[in-house]
Parts: sequence; structure tokens; C-alpha cells
Amino acid sequence: MRLRVQMVIESDDDADHQAPAVHEVAQIDRHALSVDTLGLQLEEAKQLLQKVQSILIDEQVRTSLAQQVACPDCGRPRAHKDTKTIVTRTLFGTLHLRSPRWRQCPCQPQTTRTCSPLAAALPERTTPELLYLESKFAGLVSYGLSARLLTETLPIGRPLYASAVRVHTQATGERLERELGPEQSMFADGCQLDWDELPRPDLPLTVGLDGGYVHSSQQRSRRDGWFEVIAGKSMPTDGPAKCFGYVQTFDTKPKRRLFEVLKSQGMQMNQLVTFLTDGGEDVRDIPLYLNPQAEHLIDWFHIAMRLTVMSQMTKGLRSRDNPELAAEVLEELERLKWFLWHGNVFRALQTVDDLQIDLDNTEHPSPDQQKLLKTVTEFGGYIRANGAWIPNYGERYRSGEAISSAFVESTVNQVVSKRMVKKQQMRWAPKSAHLLLQVRAKVLNDEFAEVFQRWYPAFVVPAESTVAQELAA
Ligand SMILES: [Zn+2]
Repeated sequence: MRLRVQMVIESDDDADHQAPAVHEVAQIDRHALSVDTLGLQLEEAKQLLQKVQSILIDEQVRTSLAQQVACPDCGRPRAHKDTKTIVTRTLFGTLHLRSPRWRQCPCQPQTTRTCSPLAAALPERTTPELLYLESKFAGLVSYGLSARLLTETLPIGRPLYASAVRVHTQATGERLERELGPEQSMFADGCQLDWDELPRPDLPLTVGLDGGYVHSSQQRSRRDGWFEVIAGKSMPTDGPAKCFGYVQTFDTKPKRRLFEVLKSQGMQMNQLVTFLTDGGEDVRDIPLYLNPQAEHLIDWFHIAMRLTVMSQMTKGLRSRDNPELAAEVLEELERLKWFLWHGNVFRALQTVDDLQIDLDNTEHPSPDQQKLLKTVTEFGGYIRANGAWIPNYGERYRSGEAISSAFVESTVNQVVSKRMVKKQQMRWAPKSAHLLLQVRAKVLNDEFAEVFQRWYPAFVVPAESTVAQELAA
């Protein structure tokens, strides 16, 4: 069996009685039927799409130029001067389009001597759909893998390199950044009287903010090998969570960024917003500017994580002087957890003192024991520094109030590490990390297609993506 695919172009113009133009697209030969000869194969489909794309675009360009060649003022055709080539990248092929340059008609005074209508109609040389897929994939996986995935499944038409995906993704991030309004010192708007007038707000919003580190590509000494990235997740009582991220040393609008996320979730000035952090000074201050009803607490997740690490260290502990040491320490750690869960910082600190005494009170401490003592001492310092923001978690939990923003894994891991720290050799400049995070946040929040539709009204929003569910988990 032989199947021929043709493309027939019908003229818009009824007066035009010419026969429609017919283009040969593909020829498909099939013999015995089996599962591997059934239907189109990927290579055939790629060639088919590429051919259709090329015929379609040629026709679009031809029609558009034919409509524009006449001078808009007097109707005489403009004179051809020369032709340049425009390279346009699409999902279904890279096209070299002939772009004519016409002399301006002398019937009217002109500011330029020539015009290039095709170049003017296509100021961007990558179609939005290709840009969308490149940036979306790169928001989720590495630039290199994104390039390979797209090349394998689509007839891109020429090698797509990781560097090109990176450039396009960064440009998308920059465009997102340009849309963000100016920074303000204070976003809490109005006064108590105005806030009292507002309708009763929804249930509280919970925002988790946390800092993590990524490898720096600009390492000049061992000390500047890393830089900090802030990641956050905002969770309304109902509805999906939204994430955001930024590089503090690069970002000039962290408050505006956070404010826009909260606003998109319907935050009102009389709404209670609970910020849960790891206690770092840099993240602790931001909430104060955003909302008069903001409260700041230490995320229980961070306390629980540290306690788990100490318990793990204790389980391997062997002491020549005190065979009961591990059991005693584990019991004290349990007590410590209980005091912290109930917000009893005073008794928690006493328990840390007891732990320090027990771990220090043996004649031959093993390296493991010394390491645990150091960790316990650091934990004591952490609790002392953050005591003011340690609430009675047990009571909050029983009354259904937020105690943690990181139920399964840390926000930093979800938003930053999974994409940026997985491989040791991944190194970043603060600017490129920051721009990628803007794209990644939009992708994870399932807002990326909306953005493209705003930028390109004819962009068709692809079928539902399921990325956001990963975040909500
Ligand atoms: Zn004219």
C-alpha cells in the first residue's frame, strides 16, 4: 500500500479562478500489518510536520508580502531593493525565510529610505511555543536534558544546544522580572480604620520561607564557593500552594515579589498571615513590611529535623565509660522534643544543658560523642536565639493552626535543590540562578501558560499540566 499526502492551498479571493496550488508532502509505504508498522512512525511524523510547516509558512509569508507591497498612500507597488535571510526557529523546523527590502514610495516624505515588512512582523526569531517548551522544560530539568528531550520528540530542524535553551530561558526570566512592579519599603497599605472596614477575610494564609545554598560559578576563594537562595511557599487554607524563589544578593524587589504572590492568592490587609521560617535574620524581617496582621514563627519542620538528626547520631553512640549513655541521651532528646512542642523554651534549654553535661561527663569520649556534643550545643544556641518565635505547637496543632509549611520535604528542596543542587558540578551565577527561579516558580505554580498567553494572545494554552500537584503533595 502506498499513501500520498498532499497539501492544497485554497485562495481567499473568490475572483481568483486559478486552480488551487497542490504540494506533495509525503509518501508512506506499508506492507504487512504488525504492531511496529501500524500507523505513523516518529521519523515519518517529524518529516511530515516539517514539510507541512515549511509549505504553510511559505504561503503565509507570500500572502502577507503580497498584501503589503502596495504603498499604503498611493497604491503603487514599492520597488524591490534587495533580500536578506531571516532564520526562524519553530517547533516543526528551522526556516530560512527570504525577507525583501523595499524602497519607500516617493509619494510622501519618509523617515527611512527602505522598509522590511517581514523583519518588522517577526521581531522575535523563535516562536512562542518553542520558547514556552524550552523554558518550561528548563524550569524542571537541566538545560542539556531539555534540549535533548525536545530534539528527540520534535522536528526542530537543527541541533538544539543546551546553551540556546539557557539563553532563551534566561530571556524569559528577564521578561518576567521586567513585569514586576517597583519595590516599596512598606506594602501594608492603609490604617486600622480602613482594615476594620474590609469584609471578613478568608482563613489564615501560611507562608514558609527558607534559605538554601547553591554552588557558585564565580568562585575566587574557598569561602565564596556558595551563595544563598531564598525559597518560599504560600499556602491558603483552601486552594493550591504557590512557590517563589530569589537570590538575595541579586534581587532588588524581594518584598514586591512576595507581596504579588500573596496578592494573587487573595490576601487582604486584615487577613492573618503566618510566616514560618528557620529563624534566619534575613527571612525573619520580610513579613513585617507586608501585612499588619503578619506573625512570625519558627517552622516546626526545622526543629523536628534537627531533633531527628541528633537522635540518629545518638543511636550509633558507644561509650566505654557509660554503656547506658545512648539510652539516656535518647530519653533526654524525647523530653527536649516534648518541651519544644509545647513551647516551653525555658525547660527545653535546661534539657539542652543536661544533655551537654551527660555528653561531656565521660573520660574517653569517642569522636562520635564529641560530634554529638557539638551539635547539641549548636542546637541550644539556635533555640536561645529564636526563643521569641517558638509558640506552643501542640496547642496550635490541636486548634488547627499552622505549625509547618514543609510537611514532606523542605521548601528549599522542592523549589531550589531539586533543580539546582542535584549534581555537584552544577554551578551558578547569582543572576542566572535568580532568573531560572522565576521561570521555575511559574512552571511549578502552573501559571506559565497564562504568562505566555498574556504575552502572545494567539498562543494556545496546552492541555492541563500536572506539575502543581507535585508542589501540593
Ligand atoms: Zn506611494
